[in-house]
Amino acid sequence: MVRPTHASVDLDALVANYHAVERQLSASSVNPTPRIIAVIKANAYGHGATRVGLALERAAGSGSGSAPILACADIEEGIELRQAGIASQILIFGALGVSDLAGVFDHNLTPTVSSPSAAQALEVAAASRGVRLGVHLKIDTGMHRFGLRYDNLGATLPPVVRATHLDIEAVYTHFATAERDEYGLFNAQITRFETVRTDAQALGLDNVWWHAANSAALLRDRRTWYDAVRPGLLLYGVVPPPIETELALRPAMSVRSRLVAVKGLRPGETAGYGARFVARRPMRVAVVPAGYADG
Ligand SMILES: *Cc1c(COP(=O)(O)O)cnc(C)c1O
Repeated sequence: MVRPTHASVDLDALVANYHAVERQLSASSVNPTPRIIAVIKANAYGHGATRVGLALERAAGSGSGSAPILACADIEEGIELRQAGIASQILIFGALGVSDLAGVFDHNLTPTVSSPSAAQALEVAAASRGVRLGVHLKIDTGMHRFGLRYDNLGATLPPVVRATHLDIEAVYTHFATAERDEYGLFNAQITRFETVRTDAQALGLDNVWWHAANSAALLRDRRTWYDAVRPGLLLYGVVPPPIETELALRPAMSVRSRLVAVKGLRPGETAGYGARFVARRPMRVAVVPAGYADG
């Protein structure tokens, strides 16, 4: 039996959201206008990575903006996008240790160098193929997930910069608290990233571009725009709470179902596991046929 529960994805809404972000960037006085790295990792946040990727590629080609760069989490996701016919540049965010590096070369993907050992592995692989590989370098300014520590670059960066088969195209960082109200870590991360920018020449980082902003940072603080921004949530029509925006965004996904049960609750009664929902007044609750098994 197929249950009457459907998620629909509105690709037109998604493309409209992309253009809304594009307009926001170009309406500002920031010059040149930052590029967009459209984040379609994790199957485009559940919206279907290949269809979303193709729609964004077409949308950008038809407008005035430059081609988007698409970003996903790992090499396998990148290969899937290529196999669907996507030609845009594809940036891989994640660690490379779990994947077969051949995919980077066979499918023209742009990996992130997040550690000296990743640089070494890519250097060896590029050298053995006799090619120069474009990479983005990730700096850990406080998220403590991926990246070279911002305060230890004097030790870790020289071998990466010296790798003759790697071409560092861009340097980036990622914010841990961009959407929250307390500004402490967010500001500290910006300051640390700025220090790396100031020291770029001395560190051997010439002719690179810089990026940092996820959706929350993009909305909150123009200082984070640099040469490119990396929205994920905004493309799907989601504004990360508690941030508010006047950007005209439309939800890209809607979920519809049919009610299979309806019942009354008295004030103080609870519904469901853990009794976490408490009725404050007499009310009716309904059940839709969807749960764990549906993701
Ligand atoms: C997921 C991710 C983004 C996008 O974040 P949103 O909050 O969805 O805009 C940007 N950069 C990196 C490195 C990410 O992993």
